[in-house]
Amino acid sequence: MSLLVIGSLGLDTVETPFGTVENAIGGTAVYCSVSASHFTQVNLVGVIGEDFPSTEIAFLRSRGIDLDGLEIKPGKSFSWGGRYGFDLNSRDTLFTHLNVFETFNPRIPEKYRDTPFIFLGNIGPDLQLSVLEQISKPQLVALDTMNYWIERTPAELARVLKRVDVLLVNDSEMRQLSGEHNLLKAARQVRAMGPKIIVVKKGEHGAIMITDGRFFYAPAFPLENVFDPTGAGDTFAGGFMGYLTKCRRIDEAALRQAIIYGSTFASFVVEDFSIGRLRHLREDEIRTRFINFHEMTKFLKPWEE
Ligand code: AMP
Repeated sequence: MSLLVIGSLGLDTVETPFGTVENAIGGTAVYCSVSASHFTQVNLVGVIGEDFPSTEIAFLRSRGIDLDGLEIKPGKSFSWGGRYGFDLNSRDTLFTHLNVFETFNPRIPEKYRDTPFIFLGNIGPDLQLSVLEQISKPQLVALDTMNYWIERTPAELARVLKRVDVLLVNDSEMRQLSGEHNLLKAARQVRAMGPKIIVVKKGEHGAIMITDGRFFYAPAFPLENVFDPTGAGDTFAGGFMGYLTKCRRIDEAALRQAIIYGSTFASFVVEDFSIGRLRHLREDEIRTRFINFHEMTKFLKPWEE
């Protein structure tokens, strides 16, 4: 089984109250594929410029990620700058330079066309749709989007949402997409648009999953040191989709495990800048944190007291 990931790859400049990094590897597809690579074979589709460090390409390859779908174009890579205040839940975008990403037209290599699990990272909905049109029979399609596309291209977004199984967004995107403040009512409306599995990421307040009449909530793992929240959402998506791809089942139990794996990976990535914490992340560390999640949320039913 394999997972196709499409999204941005770029160089990020990030300021937090704890420090600054310049031109560090980032982008939605990087965070997602590195975390998913702990579970499954990842086929990466994206574009980079000639300035993207070859050491980082080697790192992605060392994670077993297939890069045949990665285009290297003349010019500069996508680059993004963000600044977080003392409240790490909100950030200001300082700049977005699309560079080679501006003319990106995803071409899915022949050998990726029957990839069963698909993660459509946050790119224009027209591009997300063009990816789906090149895939023969996906088993599970997940999509991330953002306010920019919800405001500017609602018709294209509605078209792609009809073909999506899982929507992964944050709480403000969910409210904007549905026009509804209450997240449960919002989820009902969005389910009517297409995706039947709704995952709402709430930063340091965890994540909620709404499926058919069911509701699951996972807190974020309490950490003493959070350095940089950049990429937490995409890392969550990687853990979530990577696990589902590996276990092949898409029932309520598997989805709940996937939410906790997503939360586990997100809790690691925020402990350092860029993908620093993911570079040498060990399987025993992942397992221990997963078990700690279980311990943290376990309690007795009244008749077991
Ligand atoms: P997140 O913190 O999960 O929202 O993801 C942050 C990552 O998204 C950063 O590494 C950025 O490089 C990337 N990013 C920021 N803005 C965009 C955009 N407009 N399109 C694609 N990727 C973006």
